[in-house]
Amino acid sequence: MEFKVLKPFSVCCLFLLLVCACRNAKEDTQKAKSVATWNPFNIVIVTVDTLRPDHLSCYGYTRIKTPNLDKLAEKGTLFENAVCQVPITPPSHASMFTGTYPGVHQVRNVAGFNLDPSHQTLAKLLQERGWQTAAFVGAAVLAKATGLNQGFQTYDDKMDDPELGGDSPQVRAGRVVDRALEWLKKQSQQSPFLLWVHVYDPHAPYEPPLPFKNQYVRELYDGEIAYVDRELGRLFNAVETMFPPDKTLVTVLSDHGEALDEHGEPTHGVFLYDSTLRIPWILAGPGIASGKRVKDQTRTIDLLPTLLSLLGGMIPSECQGTSLLPALSGQKVNTAFSYAESLMPKIDMGWAELRAMRTAKWKYVRAPRPELYDLDKDPHELVNVIQQYPGDVEELESRLSDLTSTAAGRSEEIQSKTISAETERQLRSLGYVSAGSHRRLVLSGQGTDPKDRIHILQLLDEATSRQKKTPPAQRIRLLEQALKEDPTNSTLYLVLGTGYDMNRREEEALALYRSGIERQVGGTSKMYARIARICGRQGLVDAAIQAFELSLESDPTSIETQEELAVAYVLRGRMAEAERVLKGILVLNEANAKAHNSLGWIALKKRETPLAREHFEKALQLDPDLIDAYINLGMLYKETGDLERARHSFETFLSKAAKMDYRGSIRNVQRELDAVLKMQRHVGTRSPTAR
Ligand SMILES: [Zn+2]
Repeated sequence: MEFKVLKPFSVCCLFLLLVCACRNAKEDTQKAKSVATWNPFNIVIVTVDTLRPDHLSCYGYTRIKTPNLDKLAEKGTLFENAVCQVPITPPSHASMFTGTYPGVHQVRNVAGFNLDPSHQTLAKLLQERGWQTAAFVGAAVLAKATGLNQGFQTYDDKMDDPELGGDSPQVRAGRVVDRALEWLKKQSQQSPFLLWVHVYDPHAPYEPPLPFKNQYVRELYDGEIAYVDRELGRLFNAVETMFPPDKTLVTVLSDHGEALDEHGEPTHGVFLYDSTLRIPWILAGPGIASGKRVKDQTRTIDLLPTLLSLLGGMIPSECQGTSLLPALSGQKVNTAFSYAESLMPKIDMGWAELRAMRTAKWKYVRAPRPELYDLDKDPHELVNVIQQYPGDVEELESRLSDLTSTAAGRSEEIQSKTISAETERQLRSLGYVSAGSHRRLVLSGQGTDPKDRIHILQLLDEATSRQKKTPPAQRIRLLEQALKEDPTNSTLYLVLGTGYDMNRREEEALALYRSGIERQVGGTSKMYARIARICGRQGLVDAAIQAFELSLESDPTSIETQEELAVAYVLRGRMAEAERVLKGILVLNEANAKAHNSLGWIALKKRETPLAREHFEKALQLDPDLIDAYINLGMLYKETGDLERARHSFETFLSKAAKMDYRGSIRNVQRELDAVLKMQRHVGTRSPTAR
């Protein structure tokens, strides 16, 4: 039997294997350390993705039961008018944890940006002062590569929910909470902790588990929220029982809301209306009034300064947010202006980006056709009154210009940067000549107004939403129609390409991706990777290698692409290159068990048995469910005469494989196990003392 490393060349799994920034972060750290004592409070931050406040009973919604969040709101203070800075997951979380607007932290969209280590984060500040820090995230969009893991000793971004399938980009709230509880049990009462729990469930598609799926059959989005509330109840109860309530702060907020078709937007990420900017926010614990409701506007950038104030810590100079502590005792806080932006229309759709300035009364949106809403009279932002209040518009525009250094007519130039400087250095040392090649983006505010492309958003939703149940051929027709109307929209290329590919129209998919690359619509790295996969399936391994290499040139952070390229190199016998790529994966994520497994396999090929064994054992230490590594290790032990360990490895594989759909390998491994048992008996017969 051959060592287990390669699967057929297929689309999926190929390799088993923080306004004045006049001081720098280092000085801030030194200053922070000079503070004599901080309150050693435990902090639990829960972010519930895509959660609209007006869908929680503590915010007045009557068609849902959220008893655990309601109870927390009764115990603590609820912010009635909280807003986020970006209606997109990674940038919104970056604003929370640095206390800065996106123009400072530079995490500007879902992908293609990461938080530079020069920024101070809550986790880094607390870890430096002796807090135990851990994060458990429920979606791949918050993976370590975002840089949000900085300061967290434990950062669990494993996406391996068996209920959702092996390659799902999310895990259910229950699994996230289970992992957080496991970690909490290991915490002593000696040192305080910071725990961040992120649950993704209310994000589309809305597919709550039973019984919520039946209880909320007409409102599946609410069903997801009710489910999340139940799971968070387990977390809140455990925290309450295990740790002193007078030393434990709990806060729950969302990264953004969900449009639910308001303003023609199915989900979130494009527009800056309150349907996606408003978030729920509850804060409970020592020093927090019970049952209080704060009406002032509060912002995600206020989270870090508020928590640091409660701890008695120093707020980093970079921080643009304000401590909300005075608001808790009814005093005014300086949160009157809140900036928001969305670059997703620009980066992912080829339209104009949107920026906004919000006060308790006004929402001003800077767009090719600007908007102004009177939130007092028109909370749903249905009547654009931009012509009627030129004086207010001028003030809001001037605030926006000052904050973003983008007065009308002046552009902001940003660099899409997928990896930190250190990672870039390490990749270069491995021979990635173009490591970290950056995409330059000019944000001029010019271009197609996203408002004029609402029908494209709706076509996209109709063609991609699992809930819509549109037949596959109809999905393709809708996307072809959308692309005809909006031919520079990279998202349409990618989605339509997937549609062609899934319907065995590979030549059309290839032609579409090549035309997207040629027209430079964006998404180049993904398009090359997809071309490579199609070539691979067609047996054109050299063409696949070339396309994978081009993909990694424009984005060297895709671990999946690296894994696939390594397989392709192996297939061509280019072992040294395969090894280089696998080492590149370990630079991006040293805890990548599959890369260790594959490096072990290559070491075996080179007859470097001790190194191979080291890699296989490391792979299993990192991921005890990477069951292919048990086969590899079992074979290695067998060949080196370590029969007892060989038997144990094969038996472990067989006990796990039954649950994980490995029917094809079970028979072979059973045969290997039988052989080992026979050899053991034989050895036993010859030398009874060995028993
Ligand atoms: Zn989100």
